[in-house]
Amino acid sequence: MPVNETTTEAIRVMTICNACRYCEGHCAVFPAMERQTEFTQNNIEFLSNLCHQCGACYQHCQYADPHEFNVNVPAVFEQARLESYTQFLWPAFMQPAVLNGSKFMVTSLLVSISLFLVAVAGQSGVSQILAPQVNFYNLMPHSVMASIFSFSAVVVVISWWMTLRGYWHSISLPSPWSIGMASYSAAIASALTLKNLDGGHGSGCYESGESPSLWKRRYHHLVLIGFFMCFSATLAGTFYHYGLNIAAPYSWLTPPKILGVTGGIMLLVGCTGLFRIKQTTDQRLVSNDNGYGMSLTVLLFLTSLTGLGLPIAKGTGALGLLLAVHLGCVLALFLNFAWGKFTHGFFRLIALVADEHQKTQ
Ligand code: SF4
Ligand code: SF4
Repeated sequence: MPVNETTTEAIRVMTICNACRYCEGHCAVFPAMERQTEFTQNNIEFLSNLCHQCGACYQHCQYADPHEFNVNVPAVFEQARLESYTQFLWPAFMQPAVLNGSKFMVTSLLVSISLFLVAVAGQSGVSQILAPQVNFYNLMPHSVMASIFSFSAVVVVISWWMTLRGYWHSISLPSPWSIGMASYSAAIASALTLKNLDGGHGSGCYESGESPSLWKRRYHHLVLIGFFMCFSATLAGTFYHYGLNIAAPYSWLTPPKILGVTGGIMLLVGCTGLFRIKQTTDQRLVSNDNGYGMSLTVLLFLTSLTGLGLPIAKGTGALGLLLAVHLGCVLALFLNFAWGKFTHGFFRLIALVADEHQKTQ
């Protein structure tokens, strides 16, 4: 199969790295590179998703610009990852969502917020949107919200299954059942600890220059933990509603509120930190992704901000409007889960499983 420009460049760079091998202690990419008998589109799709973009190999490379070899692993691998997210995306007609990340995010936000404004107005009347409210469910019944997001969740899971199935087969992984539990647990441990963001020596990433920093990893952890706390808050709220027959809003010292508020604050801090890092990142390490990379961070930030605003707006005329905006942000986030940056975590996890599995062969 003919390879494209990005893969050709990635193969050129990997061929130089494989001869040099100076960076083999930096991350999982270089030992995995040394195990390959040749470089093809398939193993570039594997190696590029194993790269966590820490920047260490670029800052330490004696063959980087201005050397004529012009080796830049993080930049070419970022482009290769973007192409793998596009290539395997299901359904294929959603591929422009990856190629135009900012536009897809803004459009999905505007459409989702408009839909919820219309739904709230249709349910409770236009005048009620700006009338002081205490209870969300006067504006939109719980059953309507649950139906919209349950349907969206099913679409997301089907999309993940189809997309990741294509990637799994492409990087030549065998059946999931034939891979040992040890490979899965090592990959999950590596993903959760973000091992490959430590620069290979525990000092962290070099995204802003020659001085390593652990902040990129810390902010990612805040976002990851905050996200799981908010997800747990939703599960706890569902249990209160259906299991205990207690309807929202819940008081501040209940599990749904404690988990939601703590997770929301962690997401705000983590996302703000990632914005800051994005602004200060050495531009030679990145390729133009048309806003795809930051779209998830923006949506997580807006969802947390509007979600934390809801209890504050309770009893005021702002609640209806804020509820529609918050639900619109959540729906846009669901669209990002299926067709946006969110899937990068799964691609990386599968690459880590492949790496651990290859070590056992
Ligand atoms: S990035 Fe540079 S220093 Fe590191 S292995 Fe490749 S060629 Fe060698
Ligand atoms: S940027 Fe970091 S994670 Fe990516 S290949 Fe280089 S050292 Fe490894």
